[in-house]
Amino acid sequence: MTVMRAMVLDRPGSALVLRERPLPVPGAGELLIAVSACGVCRTDLHVVDGDLTHPKLPIVPGHEIVGRVAGIGAGVTGFAVGERVGVPWLGATCGVCPYCRSEAENLCDTPVFTGYTRDGGFASHAVADARYCFPLGEDGDDAEIAPWLCAGLIGWRSYRMAGEARIGNAMNLGLYGFGAAAHILAQVAIWQGRRIFAFTRQGDVAAQDFARSLGAVWAGASEDVPPEPLDAAIIFAPVGALVPLALKAVRKGGRVVCGGIHMSDIPSFPYASLWEERHLVSVANLTRADAHEFLAIAPKAGVQCAVTRYPLARANEALADLRDGRLQGAAVLVP
Ligand SMILES: [Zn+2]
Ligand SMILES: [Zn+2]
Repeated sequence: MTVMRAMVLDRPGSALVLRERPLPVPGAGELLIAVSACGVCRTDLHVVDGDLTHPKLPIVPGHEIVGRVAGIGAGVTGFAVGERVGVPWLGATCGVCPYCRSEAENLCDTPVFTGYTRDGGFASHAVADARYCFPLGEDGDDAEIAPWLCAGLIGWRSYRMAGEARIGNAMNLGLYGFGAAAHILAQVAIWQGRRIFAFTRQGDVAAQDFARSLGAVWAGASEDVPPEPLDAAIIFAPVGALVPLALKAVRKGGRVVCGGIHMSDIPSFPYASLWEERHLVSVANLTRADAHEFLAIAPKAGVQCAVTRYPLARANEALADLRDGRLQGAAVLVP
């Protein structure tokens, strides 16, 4: 095959367009990957809607790629043609900036991001820097694993930060916005013996039932006061108004972690909500170490993703369903 298919964004605010392109040849250090599934993440929506303002254009979104190695560039070792691999949001880092040299490559000064500054996985094929690809083994369904590559990884980084809550070791963990990331993290947290409190949009009974079905001890509206104080909370919904609500729900010394890349403005709130050594932190991107940790723990925890599959050509529909909150779990494109 000498052509590939891709869903292309020409400019933010427009629909993706299905195009054929010449099949790329992997350069030095790169893998060509035949995509078997690519998850649809809220960050893709932020790219398409123009909330993230510096995409390469035109761009092929998608950074939860599961596929098979179809070509290997010069100098790449450790991968075989046909091997199943995953490609995350972190596409490459410089390796020399102060962040890269301090085990904080997620904050690299000159990063490359899959599906944002280099073409991603809403396509039949993708090229990726082999150093940022992960072997996935053969267990598990491609589409059901795809959301692990971002919802899982960035969720895991958020969860690790929440776990640094000084009091209670984050045993009582609140999750605001019960979508792809929360439904994965809830399973890991419950497996580790934590108690999950799920917060959804007011009246979203389906999402609350879904959370309870996964083992949440309580589910309710984001405005509700949980029945017990939380040790920590993670906000996955891109809604700044949740920050003061979550701060009010956590106990003294508790932590609120903002897990998204973009959020609406945070309304002002009384200092009393932050006082008593509550922590408010954000998570940006991921490191390869996060990925290795999560990809090892997720199968042990028996993480099962609820996915809705869409053919590649229906990517716009998948994005609209995510935007409008019509999904339970994750949307996944299958080329
Ligand atoms: Zn760097
Ligand atoms: Zn993502």
